[in-house]
Amino acid sequence: MRFDILTLFPEMFVGPFRESIVGKAMEAGLVTVVVHNLRDYTTDKHRTTDDAPYGGGGGMVMKPEPIFQAVERVLGEERPSTRVMLLSPQGRLFTQEFAWELAAQKRVLLICGRYEGVDERVSQHLVDDEISIGDYVLTGGEIPAMVVVDGVTRLLPGVLGDPGAAMKDSHAGGLLEHPQYTRPALFRGYPVPALLLSGDHAKIARWRRREALRRTFERRPDLLKKAELTEEDKEYLRGLEE
Ligand code: SAM
Repeated sequence: MRFDILTLFPEMFVGPFRESIVGKAMEAGLVTVVVHNLRDYTTDKHRTTDDAPYGGGGGMVMKPEPIFQAVERVLGEERPSTRVMLLSPQGRLFTQEFAWELAAQKRVLLICGRYEGVDERVSQHLVDDEISIGDYVLTGGEIPAMVVVDGVTRLLPGVLGDPGAAMKDSHAGGLLEHPQYTRPALFRGYPVPALLLSGDHAKIARWRRREALRRTFERRPDLLKKAELTEEDKEYLRGLEE
C-alpha cells in the first residue's frame, strides 16, 4: 500500500515514520509513505500557500491552487484509483472500521491543513472524503495524518508479528479488549488472576471474553449496541445489568 502526504511541514514526519512498526514496515516494503512539500507546487516567487479569508476575520486560509496542482501532479493517471482525503475536524470520524476500509485501498493521499483550514473548493471539488481523528481541534493535519498511517499500516498483511493480533484488539469485534498481564505473577502484593496461570485455554478464553464484555459495559456501553454478541454474551451482560 502507498500513502502520499501533502504538507507544509514535511520534517515533522521524519521521526515517527523512522521508528518502530511503521518504520520496519516501510523498510520491508510493506508500506510506502511519500511526503510532499506543498510549497513545491506553488508558482510565485514567495512560494505562497495561504491568504486572508474572503469576508474578513482573523487568520489565514490555505489556497486551493497548490493543493490541486500537487494532487494532479503526484497522482497523474492514478487519480481515479487513489482515495484522496483531507484531514479535518469536520470530517468522518477515524474509527477501527474506517481503518480497515483504508487498509483495503492500494493508494491513499492525505492533505494536511493548517491555519484556519483549507479553501472550501478543495473539499467540494478535489477530495473524496474528509477524515477527523476526534472531536477536538489541533493546529494542523500532520499529527492526524500520522495517526491514520499508523492505524492503517498495522492492519496490512505481514506488519504485525502476530497476524491475528489486530483481530483481537479493542474495537476489532466491537468490544474493548480484556486486561493483559505479564510476569511476575505477584508484583508488590498484586496478583495476576489465578485462572490465567491454570493453563486451561478454554477457561482462559471464556474469562477473557467476559472481561472484554465487562470492560465495555463499564467504560463504553455505547459500543455494545453495535458489537457482535452471542446469546451467552447477552446473558452475561444481563447479569451485569442487574
Ligand atoms: N477552522 C477549522 C475548523 O474550525 O473546522 C480548524 C482548522 S485547524 C486549526 C487546522 C488544520 O488542522 C485543519 O485544516 C486540519 O487539517 C487539521 N486538524 C485539526 N484538528 C483535526 C482533527 N480533529 N482531525 C483531523 N484534522 C484536524
